[in-house]
Amino acid sequence: MIRAKEPSLPEIRAKVEAGERLTLEDGIFLYQPSVPLNEVGELANLVRERKNGNFAYYNINTHLNPTNVCVYRCIFCAFRSDLKDPKGYLMPDEQILERGREAVESGSTEMHIVGGLHHQMKYEWYRHVIALLHQAYPRLHLKAWTAVEINWFQHLTKKPVREILEDLMQAGLGSMPGGGAEIFHPEVRDQICEHKADARNWIDIHRTAHQLGLKTNATMLYGHIEKPYHRVDHLIRLRELQDETGGFQTFIPLAFHPANTGLDHIKKPSGVLDLRTMAVSRLMLDNFDHIKAYWIMLGIGTAQTALAYGADDLDGTVRHELIYHDAGAETPEVLTVEQIERLIREAGREPVERDTLYHRVVRDGDNWTSGELITTGA
Ligand code: SF4
Repeated sequence: MIRAKEPSLPEIRAKVEAGERLTLEDGIFLYQPSVPLNEVGELANLVRERKNGNFAYYNINTHLNPTNVCVYRCIFCAFRSDLKDPKGYLMPDEQILERGREAVESGSTEMHIVGGLHHQMKYEWYRHVIALLHQAYPRLHLKAWTAVEINWFQHLTKKPVREILEDLMQAGLGSMPGGGAEIFHPEVRDQICEHKADARNWIDIHRTAHQLGLKTNATMLYGHIEKPYHRVDHLIRLRELQDETGGFQTFIPLAFHPANTGLDHIKKPSGVLDLRTMAVSRLMLDNFDHIKAYWIMLGIGTAQTALAYGADDLDGTVRHELIYHDAGAETPEVLTVEQIERLIREAGREPVERDTLYHRVVRDGDNWTSGELITTGA
């Protein structure tokens, strides 16, 4: 049997410089500790600057987790609650509307809405959350419900995904977040979240969303029991769907936080793994315009450094983040625009406020409008 030749850094460098696609073997090779992190970062930075120049994007956003009660028990999740646990909550309409008001008054252009799969709530309630906010605050972009939630709605309604998404769009859904992807490979997925939507479900739901014109994001939860092979396999599955639809906006590598989870014996990923994952993601996902350094999970220092390792977006100012703070994230609960812009400038980048769909936001006092679409390079 002829074995494939082991990749080398000079060969990978030549491919990146020529704009050629990297293989599974290349991606795994770049994860080897013997491959200098700074060199992987330099290559990722080349792609990052080719696509986004010196810009680093952020938005002004607010989170809403309408319930933490969840039928599933993903082993990495510190957010969920059992139905009868005193920690469990379900927000009444008044509280949801109050959060919307706070979002608008704080200048948010987006509300990020995800939560648990409540044992007793019907699909109509999840739709109602969207309709309620959209009717009260029509300018607020609602980025809501992960593919895992959409899969749950399918279970509840027995309707096709397309019909559910069309119905949610009619209620005011603007786009979908990328959560619930975790690690696609069944060797890992079956151990950390065996019951929820599998890789095929997750990908099919995003494909349908893209076919309907709904933009979505994609994530990967790393730093738990997975190996480099599983991460690179995950990235390639996303790249294949992006080739087909072009509907992904941003990829967000999510660093695992072990506190209060069933994996609390595992150490948090190191800064080296964070930066290497950022860089490998940028290099593998040649058809994604944006790679996000989610400061809530990475910590502010690593997120800022990641702007030189492939990332071009810091997510947003973020209000009311619960999911990773429940899992021990020590980052602040909110950053002001001044703070986020200072972080970006300190990293030598030029801050650009964007809306959810990557239009430049133009502000005049308390008013804002979405300006031109941000176009990226090759
Ligand atoms: S990750 Fe989501 S689906 Fe899994 S237990 Fe937590 S809230 Fe439920």
